[in-house]
Amino acid sequence: MKAVFISGHGDNAVVQIGERPKPARGHGDVLVRVMAASLNRVDLYMRDSGKGITHSLPHILGLDGAGIVEEVGPEEPLLTVGQRVVLHPGIGCGRCEFCQRGAGVLCTGIQYLGEHRDGTLAEFVSLPARNVFPMPASLNFEQAAALGVCHLTAWRMLFGKAQIQPWETVLIFGIGGGVSLAALQLAKLAGCKAIVTSRDAGKLQRALDLGADHAINGSTQDITREVMALTGGRGADVVIENVGQAVWSHALKSLVRGGRIVTCGATSGDQPPADLRRIFIRQLQIFGSTLGDLAELRDLLAFVERSALRPVICATYPMDEVHAALDALEAGSQFGKIAITIGPATPDAQ
Ligand code: ZN
Repeated sequence: MKAVFISGHGDNAVVQIGERPKPARGHGDVLVRVMAASLNRVDLYMRDSGKGITHSLPHILGLDGAGIVEEVGPEEPLLTVGQRVVLHPGIGCGRCEFCQRGAGVLCTGIQYLGEHRDGTLAEFVSLPARNVFPMPASLNFEQAAALGVCHLTAWRMLFGKAQIQPWETVLIFGIGGGVSLAALQLAKLAGCKAIVTSRDAGKLQRALDLGADHAINGSTQDITREVMALTGGRGADVVIENVGQAVWSHALKSLVRGGRIVTCGATSGDQPPADLRRIFIRQLQIFGSTLGDLAELRDLLAFVERSALRPVICATYPMDEVHAALDALEAGSQFGKIAITIGPATPDAQ
């Protein structure tokens, strides 16, 4: 089968487009014909070094995906050949204390597609049936693929960790990336007021067009002062954050007393000053979050079925042009997801 795989670590020269063996479907697994996937920052990390992530070479990239059930075992009661599906990329061991509690995303032996095992930038992927979900009818494959990582991550941050309420104000740093945009969409659909930040005026305008209530330009404005002005001197209830060191101090100072901050990344550095006095005196809550559980993806998909949510796809590349797609991701100028089509391009969903 045709796939995008790394044969070593380095720049795009190690990323190959070529033939890899079609995976054999294991017991309890579903073989999915991948139609679309999207790029995530971890794809760049795997290309560059993959350090700290157990994987073998050659290794097929790609975390998220949507496609069509190609082959399913007779033991599987819920999925049928030809069904359109979305993939959850985290495969838990099923046996550790966290899996047994239904918190599989905390699994001590969790394996992610595209990180610990072969990923979705391939014509086929085999994974446990529990990781395969019916795809919302309202989405095309490119949009659906984006749900499995970015929207799931944002869903857990907002609803699982911060437990946002419709009357609250959510401050989202670094708008334009997949998770922050997903958080904006979900926070607005939940009824919250959303304030976004970026150093790019064009991205801020597009976020306003998407429904953000206020936009703050981090390169020309003092974020904390602006947030206080926009909230009557009170501060935001919740901060959604994956920029890290460059904005952490602003994030803490922009929170109301008792406010919550949820972090899922640290692209600018992971060792900001802790500012412990501010944290305990103002009784702030700090949550770490990564991806989401199977149950959370189930809930997200049910929500998508009954809402107008459509993941923002800013560019679509065929698999043959994955190098250009990786360059675009690395440049950081995207507003939304960079999709990769594996099969033929799909028409827009109605
Ligand atoms: Zn486990």
